[in-house]
Amino acid sequence: MEDSLLIPEKKSETDKNFPLINELVNMEHEQLVFCSRPEVGLKAIIAIHDTTLGPALGGVRMWKYRSENEAIKDVLRLSRGMTYKSAISGLNLGGGKGVIIGDSSTEKTEELFRAFGRYVDGLAGRYITAEDVGMSEKDMEWIFSETKYVAGIPKSLGGSGDPSPVTAYGVYMGIKASAKKAYGSESLEGKRIGIQGAGSVATHLARHLQKEGADIFVTDIFEEKANRLAKETGASVVDPDKIYSLDLDIFSPCALGGVVNDDTIDHIKCDIIAGGANNILDNEKKHGEMLRERKILYAPDYVINAGGLINVSSELEGYNERRALEKAARIYDTTIDIFDYADRHGITTNKASNILAEKRIQAVGKVSTIYSSKSQISNREGEIYYKSRC
Ligand code: NAD
Repeated sequence: MEDSLLIPEKKSETDKNFPLINELVNMEHEQLVFCSRPEVGLKAIIAIHDTTLGPALGGVRMWKYRSENEAIKDVLRLSRGMTYKSAISGLNLGGGKGVIIGDSSTEKTEELFRAFGRYVDGLAGRYITAEDVGMSEKDMEWIFSETKYVAGIPKSLGGSGDPSPVTAYGVYMGIKASAKKAYGSESLEGKRIGIQGAGSVATHLARHLQKEGADIFVTDIFEEKANRLAKETGASVVDPDKIYSLDLDIFSPCALGGVVNDDTIDHIKCDIIAGGANNILDNEKKHGEMLRERKILYAPDYVINAGGLINVSSELEGYNERRALEKAARIYDTTIDIFDYADRHGITTNKASNILAEKRIQAVGKVSTIYSSKSQISNREGEIYYKSRC
């Protein structure tokens, strides 16, 4: 999330002698772990941002970073984002992220992922990993063979499988909450809704919208994908660059990030922007303000696309799809609360959601100072040998 409000104001002046530790202080991280195993080609970094609410959960991505600094910046930024996403979603999880430095098309090996799994295991549950960009189900299975601290594993291994149906359901709830705020009714019947992308999330979303009688427009850079979805849901297909200038009630970006930017914002004609893509606003602060001035209601992306995280986290308590969908349905109320808070304080909706997430972390953090049986840590024989925070 470039120029994100999630990047806090600098807390301390850069100390030339300790630039990295300073960065952790400024970004409010608890821990940064560098993993190196040259024999298997592993260069990885794990960032744990905040564990006030629970273990730090966040995917691991494999990416050919151009420099070490780029990888560090990415893992710090992404793990911080996970803290906010979990907090606003009411989950008892903190924020973490892993990055494996390497080319995901040529450098994948079993031993590389198993080595990464061992580093995750060494963190003893402070970090729970999951699939992210550049990773496949098979790679996750290798990690899983070395550590139980993995979520989002395939259904065949007892996990939750593809998260996109629950993500799409959460986005649908976020769209209905936005309609309630903008039109006074959550009904989407007859509403002109433009969906950018015809992938996994978009497909499940379009099915919900079709059932409600919405007038759907869909686009994809692969025309056949858009055609297939249109055929199934009765949507109209539009060219990828035409979606921005279409007269819509609701624009739902479900493809890629940064689509509300300096080039597109003046063309967008709608009342609501609410989609499943991550980082919809190119510059959260600037474009969030511009949308507010134009009276376009923006449903913060990390709030309404949290169904995927909710789905994955449900695995930790024994996966049950109905329960995951019930939790994802709460995105409706959370989105309304954010809109109301933004209205009351005259701020953007994205800023409001960041503030509400921080408030929850601070409030729940106060509770964990009270001693309870949860503060006890047992050894392997089940004897209590350490009591934390008492
Ligand atoms: P996907 O790869 O299945 O679908 C993305 C689709 O967007 C593809 O069909 C692709 O061809 C299309 N696309 C790419 N660029 C485009 C463009 N310029 N114009 C139109 N179409 C374009 O991905 P997905 O799983 O459906 O995820 C969609 C978005 O939602 C991503 O930003 C992802 O990060 C986010 N997201 C997904 C989940 C999930 O559970 N899958 C969870 C949270 C967030």
